[in-house]
Amino acid sequence: MGFEVPASVRPIRDAVYAFMTERVEPAEPVLRRGDRDSAALLAELQRQAKQEGLWALGHPEELGGGGLPFLDYVYVNEVQGRSEFGQLALGTFTLQDSLMLHRHASAEQRERYLRPLVQAEIYPSFAMTEPGISSSDPTQLTTTATLEGDEWVIRGRKWFTTLADRAAYTTVMCRTEPEGTVPHLSFSMILVPTDTPGYTIVRDTPVLGLDGGHCEVLYDEVRVPAQNLLGPRGHGFVIAQERLGPGRIFHCMRWLGQAQRAFDLMCARLHERSAFGGPLADKQLMQQHVFDSYTEIQAARLLTLQAAHRIDAGDQARVEIGAIKVAGARMLHNVIDRAVQVHGAQGLTDDTPLGRMYRHAREARIYDGPDEVHITTTARRILKEYAQGRNWEFGLR
Ligand SMILES: Cc1cc2nc3c(=O)[nH]c(=O)nc-3n(C[C@H](O)[C@H](O)[C@H](O)COP(=O)(O)OP(=O)(O)OC[C@H]3O[C@@H](n4cnc5c(N)ncnc54)[C@H](O)[C@@H]3O)c2cc1C
Repeated sequence: MGFEVPASVRPIRDAVYAFMTERVEPAEPVLRRGDRDSAALLAELQRQAKQEGLWALGHPEELGGGGLPFLDYVYVNEVQGRSEFGQLALGTFTLQDSLMLHRHASAEQRERYLRPLVQAEIYPSFAMTEPGISSSDPTQLTTTATLEGDEWVIRGRKWFTTLADRAAYTTVMCRTEPEGTVPHLSFSMILVPTDTPGYTIVRDTPVLGLDGGHCEVLYDEVRVPAQNLLGPRGHGFVIAQERLGPGRIFHCMRWLGQAQRAFDLMCARLHERSAFGGPLADKQLMQQHVFDSYTEIQAARLLTLQAAHRIDAGDQARVEIGAIKVAGARMLHNVIDRAVQVHGAQGLTDDTPLGRMYRHAREARIYDGPDEVHITTTARRILKEYAQGRNWEFGLR
């Protein structure tokens, strides 16, 4: 296993890096506004990415994507993650949903959603989380879908359905099986077009002051055809799990790209700014920030690449994935926090990207499962080895 970006991946990674730093990052002040100008600018960036062969690089070729092998795409994510707009500009934000449809959709569902999804002609959204229950434990989900004649009738309330305000459809995780069914076989995925009567966006919940399209949605007797079931009935958990696995590697690599950007800003600032007779770079307490950030980034990077290699080798790498989800999110938060500190008051303003990066970093410790859930499940898996008379032999993993 190598740690450097392989030579074969460098040309495409360099091209994405240039696209990100020369076009996406300078466009951020406009893209952040979320108005008509920002939509036009995003569309123009997307057009350029398509024209230059940088579009949807991780999507399979047969879907109209770039078809990069898994590990190559892992490295591309690292530079794509520099900006919160990278995935939108490069057409990769639909990857998880596209793969979910690719695996499970019927011919009709593929035709209706999959092709336009890959071309970013439509947005997807995914609804598992509910406001009334602890969604870390999805066996508690209360939204139901009942088969009445040839229609599913959905009743319930979801929230944090990201992009529901723009999406063409939502994949909704619903309880479909009767009481007494094994909890992990009690739920199904159902595709719901967002213009279906009864599908009501109650509010777009701001998160730490950012308008991220995290919607609360009421399902008031929403009726969709029975054929809108995605995959087998009762397999909602399996589908949700498949959706998340390798996706966490991509998340972590994008976090490393964010951290790299914060680290660059921090180190540059330490040389630029002077106080008490010399540059900040000469102060030992500032050097501590550089050292701590260096070690955390490097550790998270190696953990993530090791997990990626295990996945590539066909392992589910559950321990490794749990570990990087927690270590990666913590690293991201800590590195950006230090970069903000080094910038003083300016770090809290929108004069640098750090303020928004910091707020998004805080989200990372909760979405895709809060830290505590990953810590517990990862530790349990390791302890199980010892309970069964084995050890966790690091050198062999
Ligand atoms: C930015 C963002 C985007 C999101 N996008 C989506 C989306 O598109 N679709 C979607 O369905 N959901 C989405 N979510 C929701 C996210 O998946 C849930 O918030 C997450 O699964 C946690 O569920 P919860 O909020 O109900 O927290 P709860 O389950 O109520 O947990 C609250 C806290 O309890 C603690 N806790 C929970 N379980 C344990 C445990 N076993 N041991 C110890 N402590 C524990 C943790 O500290 C946790 O933070 C998004 C969330 C965020 C922040």
